[in-house]
Amino acid sequence: MSKDLWSKISQTIKTGAETLVQETKELTKMGRLKVELMTLENERGRRLQEVGRKAYALYRVGTAFPPELAQDFQAVDETEKRIEEKNLEIEALKAEDEAREAARLEAEKAAEKEAQAKAFCSQCGAGLRPTDVFCSQCGTKVE
Ligand SMILES: [Zn+2]
Repeated sequence: MSKDLWSKISQTIKTGAETLVQETKELTKMGRLKVELMTLENERGRRLQEVGRKAYALYRVGTAFPPELAQDFQAVDETEKRIEEKNLEIEALKAEDEAREAARLEAEKAAEKEAQAKAFCSQCGAGLRPTDVFCSQCGTKVE
């Protein structure tokens, strides 16, 4: 097979993937991870398309697949690995967010309970501390 044919069918398809990642700085971490995942999934699709295009071009001219095609398959594997890593990163962040939200709700509930438990003087309405025996404002005995 001629070197020319190979380099001709090896021309890569350019995309705006890099630009897309640059523009995600403003988003939340989760939003950014999801855009990165989408970018990787696009990359995988692009690589598979490229491998398919090359393999089909060779099939059309009746040429056996060259060993270089394995590099393209490896590139797909590499992208696949990065997609898996990105998914794990998203799962970890999701769990982190959920744990933080649960802790926040717990603290909110505790604060509410504490506010409800707080006693007030039956005479003047001043707030009482749990240790108060007499109201610090009007001297009424705490019941
Ligand atoms: Zn009082």
